[in-house]
Parts: sequence; structure tokens; C-alpha cells
Amino acid sequence: MTDELLTRAVLKVGNGRGFAVERQKNHFRNERVVITAAHCLADALRADGDCGLPPCHPSRYVREETYKDLLGPLRRKPTVWATCLYVDPITDIAVLGQPDDMVLAEKVEDYNCLMKSLGTLPITDAPAQGWDHVMEHKTPGKGDARVLSLCGHWLRGQVVRSSNNLSFEPGRFFVGGMSGSPIINANGAAIGVCSTIEINPVIVDSLAAHLVRSIQGAGGKCHDCPALEGEYHEPGCDVERCPFCGDQLISCDCCYTMLNIDRPPGTRVCEFGLTRKQQMQWERLLNDKGRVPFILYPNMCAKCGKLWPEMFSVSDQEWEQYVEKGQRDKLLCKPCYDQIKIWIDEGLSSGAGGRRLTG
Ligand SMILES: [Zn+2]
Ligand SMILES: [Zn+2]
Ligand SMILES: [Zn+2]
Repeated sequence: MTDELLTRAVLKVGNGRGFAVERQKNHFRNERVVITAAHCLADALRADGDCGLPPCHPSRYVREETYKDLLGPLRRKPTVWATCLYVDPITDIAVLGQPDDMVLAEKVEDYNCLMKSLGTLPITDAPAQGWDHVMEHKTPGKGDARVLSLCGHWLRGQVVRSSNNLSFEPGRFFVGGMSGSPIINANGAAIGVCSTIEINPVIVDSLAAHLVRSIQGAGGKCHDCPALEGEYHEPGCDVERCPFCGDQLISCDCCYTMLNIDRPPGTRVCEFGLTRKQQMQWERLLNDKGRVPFILYPNMCAKCGKLWPEMFSVSDQEWEQYVEKGQRDKLLCKPCYDQIKIWIDEGLSSGAGGRRLTG
């Protein structure tokens, strides 16, 4: 993503900022919501005339959870109303969405117009933490990151993750008015929300799980063709699976075996593949069998269940040493893997007696 596209996702929220993300509204439609810092709502004027966070009981009125003149484009006075879908004052994160379309119908169009004018950011996990074998504590995750300055430049720095929080270096990049801005990683995905210089919430750890699912699920577009979830891939897409063998459709041999085509080395079919006619026959077979639509199966840690953990790799030899046989084809997040390593190494050093007690 270019810097300009990244900036288009950022907007004004009260005296601070926020950024737009796409989320699944239902099985057929997406909608746009805004992630911001909870403290951007602390003094904001609600539609019932009071200020601050919505009252904490679920039978509150729509006007008690909706804010007047809260959102707007960067560098303009906010005029658009929005409702609070989620707020956590402890980690300092909030999510805003469209005002209620029954009670505040006249405010809905402004919200949707503003959202249409914006870009969106994907959200993803921050750099993974590990475990220190010797010191027996978590080691911070580190990675490149950027934040949007008040004058609109993406400033490059580093984040350090300690459990659910990020600190950003250099801290002097953070100034008043940037609160609620996204902290993005090197790929342009949002990993954190600007809150304070030292402590900023990791998005996927701080939002409710259903929000994380609906936001990450809305990014469900095939990375090789325009197919959305549930749709068929374009012909030749390298993600499509073969309905006969389950492997990658563009590279498996089923088209030859199903059409009874011999492929001795050096022949035309070996070099050029199927003829146009054979291709049509093959497509008919595929359609009769039923093509495999694009469905996004998330990566998940097999131990703690975390969605889309940051990927890491180890040698086959090490993997087999620490991961038991039935789990080796699965995925583990870095903290879980390091924890398993510690347990197994401790078990070895203390003999057959199990874990050594510390403290
Ligand atoms: Zn595709
Ligand atoms: Zn196949
Ligand atoms: Zn895990």
C-alpha cells in the first residue's frame, strides 16, 4: 500500500484520530467501522447531552451511546455522528460505527458518506514475544513500525511488544492530537493504537474476539484473484484447490489422469499442456464434480487458539524434538512454542521427575 492509501484510512475523532477498517456485517455485506483510543471519547459530547463513555449497562438508550459531531476528515472540524460499538478504558481502545438507523436515521447518511470517502486498513498481530530459557521470563517482540505525524508524514520507528502493549521508539514522535492513530507494521497493517508514549494497546489482544473475527474475516479476498469468500476463483488462480485430489488445481495431474492422457517425456502435451478442446473437457469434468470455492480458513495456534498468530519457522529437526507427533502438522504461536520448549527442556534437566519447582 502506498503512503497516500494508508493516510486515507485515518480520520479525525474528536480531538484525536481514528482509522477505518472493514468488517463483516453479515454473510452478504461488509461495513466500515472506526478504531480509536477510548480516551478520545472521554470528553466527547453524547447525543443525550452528557459527555464521556456510555453508561455501563446494556439497556442504555441509543442516544447515550451515540456521539454528536465526532468524526470528520483529517484537519477539519468533525461533524459526523457515530455510535460506540465497543470501548475498553483499561487498554484504551474503542470501536465506533454507524448511528442507529431507526432512532437517528437522519445521521446515517453523513456517516456512510464519510466512510465511503476513506480507505481502510487491515489489522494483524504485533511482533510475537518469546520466552527466555535462562531468565524464565517473556522476551519482548520487536519490529519495524510507523505512525502518522500531525503534518501527515509516516514516521518510521520500532515497536517493542510486552504482552498486550506496544511501546514505540522514538517516543518523541508521539504528540497530542495523534491519539487514536494506527501504529502500522512494515506491510501497512494496523497492529496498535496510539495511546501514550510508553504503552499502546495491541489491537488483536484488546478488542472483543467477535470484533477481531469480523474485521479479519472481512479481509477475506483471495490473494491471487478477485474472488470474495464463498465465490469461485477465476480460471488459473493459484489458490484454487482441485475437487478430485485436494491439491493445488493448477499444478496437480488430475486433468491428465481424468482425461486418460498419456504424457511420455518429450511429447507436445508434456511441453504445452492441454489443447483448447481438452481444456474444455477438463472444465466440464470440474464443473460436474463441483469446483472448490474460496473460503478463508484462518491460521490458529493449536495450543492457545489465537487467530492469525505471527508466523515463525524452526528446523524440522527442532520441531520434531519439541512437538509431539499428533500435533506436528499444526501451527503454534511463538509464545506457546517457547513455553513447550521450556517444559520439555526442564523435564530433561530434572530427570524423569517432571518439572522443577522454582521460587
Ligand atoms: Zn483465487
Ligand atoms: Zn487434482
Ligand atoms: Zn498459542
